[in-house]
Amino acid sequence: GPQPVPTVKSPSTLVGSTQMSNVTVCVRFRPLSHKERKTNGDKICFKRLDSESFVFKDEREEDVIFSFDRVFYEDAEQSDVYNFLAVPIVADAISGINGTIITYGQTGAGKTYSMEGPSILHCNNQKTGLVQRVVDELFQSLQSSESMATWNVKLSMVEIYLEKVRDLLDLSKDNLQIKESKTQGIYISGATEVSIMNSSDALECLSEGIANRAVGETQMNLASSRSHCLYIFSVQQGSTSDERVRGGKIILVDLAGSEKVEKTGAEGRVLDEAKTINKSLSVLGNVINALTAGKQNHVPYRDSKLTRILQDALGGNSRAALLCCCSPSASNAPESLSTIRFGTRTKLIKISPKSSPVETDSGKAASKSTSPEVDSVKKHI
Ligand code: ADP
Ligand code: MG
Repeated sequence: GPQPVPTVKSPSTLVGSTQMSNVTVCVRFRPLSHKERKTNGDKICFKRLDSESFVFKDEREEDVIFSFDRVFYEDAEQSDVYNFLAVPIVADAISGINGTIITYGQTGAGKTYSMEGPSILHCNNQKTGLVQRVVDELFQSLQSSESMATWNVKLSMVEIYLEKVRDLLDLSKDNLQIKESKTQGIYISGATEVSIMNSSDALECLSEGIANRAVGETQMNLASSRSHCLYIFSVQQGSTSDERVRGGKIILVDLAGSEKVEKTGAEGRVLDEAKTINKSLSVLGNVINALTAGKQNHVPYRDSKLTRILQDALGGNSRAALLCCCSPSASNAPESLSTIRFGTRTKLIKISPKSSPVETDSGKAASKSTSPEVDSVKKHI
């Protein structure tokens, strides 16, 4: 049957930014895995408070309340996640606003599950992931708009590994370049773009990309946890006549695992990988920080391929959502805390330098703020 109309709390517009730049930050704790239960018992690393906050021990083992736009616990459905963070983005893409949905977290935290579900091919309705839901919603909205005939939806899938962009819809293209044009904005030059007319076209294409990703991994002996996977949908209207082209794009990003390299005792290429992955994740953090600090700041988009591709989906006329995926197990608490901290930094709203001289990467700017929109509170209990 039809899904109930979701009540979506609209993300706060960032203070100090003259551009429209919205970042919704959510945390998701997956259920304990069988392995975690077996080796570590039922020890959980967080205490649930409500749908926006939980208690977590910080680096000094002190209880701290962390608050986000929404927290999804182990009983959350895929549809809850979708309704809260993706529905507004899909709606906006149709009216020409770019959107980005990013999953962040250590390997095994539930990033791919959130994006693809248990499997993109065999998804049932309840477990279907964000990607397929975005597609379904996109076509439903377009079909209900009168001008369906003039809409054009295209799908690309790429992977970024060691700062190389690989086409997942054509494995022979393994080093794509990122370019910028007046009409297209930022784009991946030469990337395969498949025109999709409906959900099943999209599913076929996505399955191919996912299968190709696995093939490439075997060939190159790498784990998917070490590369970023991007699902790129572009929606365009009016390419047939001389009317102005309107449209936006939605980029879904399943990031590489955020775990620290020391833990794995990596050497050689694995160490290079870990460094590169951590670098592009920290560049992503820097970009988000610069964006939240306002237009005056230099935004280091060009410091990584990932942020360059996301440039006009993160900044400018855009909307972004970050899903911070965490293991609930006490045994993974340090990595989960680091993921939560990344989310907090992303959510941290800084006052523009004009209205306040405070400029810091720590939480100080937030505590000086009087804006009711600062919702990333931290207090001891
Ligand atoms: P990641 O992509 O972050 O490395 P995965 O999405 O592959 O992690 O998740 C690791 C394991 O946990 C998978 O077996 C996945 O099916 C399972 N899992 C993750 N999130 C959930 C969830 N919300 N509900 C049930 N199982 C989940
Ligand atoms: Mg994964």
